[in-house]
Amino acid sequence: MGRVILDIKNLDKTYVSDGIENPVIRKMNLQIYAGDFTVVMGPSGSGKSTLLYCLGAMEDVTGGSILFQGKDITKMKENALSDLRLKKFGFIFQQIHLVSNLSLFENVILPGMVWPKNTKEDVNKRALELLERFRVKDVSERLPSQVSGGEQQRAAIARSLINRPDVLFADEPTGALNQNNSEIVMDLFSELNRDGQSILLVTHDRRAALRGNRIIYIIDGAIRSELELEPYDPANLQEREEAVNSWLASLGW
Ligand code: ADP
Ligand code: MG
Repeated sequence: MGRVILDIKNLDKTYVSDGIENPVIRKMNLQIYAGDFTVVMGPSGSGKSTLLYCLGAMEDVTGGSILFQGKDITKMKENALSDLRLKKFGFIFQQIHLVSNLSLFENVILPGMVWPKNTKEDVNKRALELLERFRVKDVSERLPSQVSGGEQQRAAIARSLINRPDVLFADEPTGALNQNNSEIVMDLFSELNRDGQSILLVTHDRRAALRGNRIIYIIDGAIRSELELEPYDPANLQEREEAVNSWLASLGW
């Protein structure tokens, strides 16, 4: 087990609309470890996306604290937070937010270019490496609308990694993909994690969840159960599937 990279203490998140409070995360305590592939599962509406947005500093919290590398991000000012999101965190969503009038290559270099420390040469080189690794280099001069959904998502993953994030956050990244493209994207995640990338994946796709070495199940904004697994190895897939299936069945999934 690696060191703690995200330390969540007594986290509360309540949305208020029309004066009605909707508590979505309730007094949650959780530690996420560096190098882990952590998966969050749970029924629709259980607070998975909200949790990911709070941890990724994209959503204010109502109470509690979130220590990232020892610093409480819930106390940080907006400019420190945007720095964090740019340099330390990578994000991938179900809806692929590529800029429609930029090529895949331009989309990938964009977050690299806004960080002044990076040189243009380094960013271009890394972008090409990532595009090649994710098998979208041949189409990298095309606009998003000129490539498949799977290729768009792989370019979006390349973009999320351009600044070498400490944590990769992904919310249902296979939600809009067919089975074949989902497997390709999850193979990429497995490969990245094998190389040391810390990943936090929210999904209700059980095949995607199999990739994790730790699966956390939440219901009504609280942790109900968790399952520890060996790092993903396709050689033991059947055993792994059985372990995850029986655990999920015990939770009424
Ligand atoms: P999940 O990802 O597990 O499906 P969410 O975190 O998206 O769940 O949503 C949990 C609850 O929070 C739901 O009841 C949802 O309606 C509510 N919610 C999510 N985002 C907002 C928001 N921006 N404003 C108000 N309520 C929200
Ligand atoms: Mg969600």
